[in-house]
Amino acid sequence: MIEFLGHLLSENIPEIAPVYDSKLSIGYYYPAVNLFFAVDSKDGHIILLRFFEHQALDRKLINRIHLCPKCLYHTVNFQEQCPKCSSIDFKNSDVIHHFNCGYVGEMSEFLNEATTQMICPKCGKVLRHIGMDYDKPAQMHKCNSCKYIFNESKVGMQCFHCNYIGDAEDAKDYDIYSYTVNKNTARIVERKSFDPSGLGIRTTKEGFMCYNKQAFSFILWQKYLEAEEFGDSISVIMFNTDMLGNELLRSTIEYIAEIKRTPDTVSMDETGRMLIMLPRATDTMMMEMVTKIKEFISRKLKSDSAHVFFHAEIIKPGKHLKVANILDMIYQSYDKHYAESSGESVFHEETFEEK
Ligand SMILES: [Zn+2]
Ligand SMILES: [Zn+2]
Ligand SMILES: [Zn+2]
Repeated sequence: MIEFLGHLLSENIPEIAPVYDSKLSIGYYYPAVNLFFAVDSKDGHIILLRFFEHQALDRKLINRIHLCPKCLYHTVNFQEQCPKCSSIDFKNSDVIHHFNCGYVGEMSEFLNEATTQMICPKCGKVLRHIGMDYDKPAQMHKCNSCKYIFNESKVGMQCFHCNYIGDAEDAKDYDIYSYTVNKNTARIVERKSFDPSGLGIRTTKEGFMCYNKQAFSFILWQKYLEAEEFGDSISVIMFNTDMLGNELLRSTIEYIAEIKRTPDTVSMDETGRMLIMLPRATDTMMMEMVTKIKEFISRKLKSDSAHVFFHAEIIKPGKHLKVANILDMIYQSYDKHYAESSGESVFHEETFEEK
């Protein structure tokens, strides 16, 4: 990680600017990052976010795009839709409201070709004076699909990539930044550490850190969509590390880095709780990981790994489960079981599936 900052300084690259490419899901990528780390364009965003969060780079907002909630592509089209059936096929319509009988209908229904008079199709009376017999409510629209008459269309969204159709609020805002070298960059490179002056970052061995909660949440979201697409599940292990002390914490993180598979993601939140996400892992794999970590900690402590509370979940994507809520659900579930366990080391396994 830090080598990249050194590269920026030695090559005199003051700014890492995003470049637009319509073929990419997020639409923007950072050529300099992809080249250096040999990662795909999505990971470039996460890598730079991590540098920013560790105050190694500054950033400025360049654009705000909208991503499809289903496929994460930026190819989102906002459109006005019928509030009843979501059809885009509606037209402006002159609507007449007949005071006498209360009938509301389109102008064409009242027009009578034979007499050129306006006749109410409901009560058959002749309409003479606007304001006295009838009025025209504000500009109305009529849906060609369900025939509904309405004055305010709703704003919906459609994704060109996966054809998802939903409400405008379903689209997820995503901010695109340009990153620049800052006053910490050189110091971090010089000391080969992200925490040169107590910036408050937990570093482990050189170049290895955990994702923070925000980055983890983003990765979880991506993995969740993949799991949904392929009908897989995601396992998440959570445990508290506040009893471990810095030395043991560092070696535990190193140990997890050794035993984890490549797609597994390790994260620590600001309160010191570790989260490990194992995409497409079986129950057995998840249990094995928990057992290994517990044994490692017990071995190091030379006692039972008491006061380290492990909690494991298997997440099975269900319809309409908002991804932002998954992490909250994991936390709530952890807290609930933690409270019930009176602090003893207990293992829980749980499956959520929202209908
Ligand atoms: Zn009438
Ligand atoms: Zn309609
Ligand atoms: Zn889509």
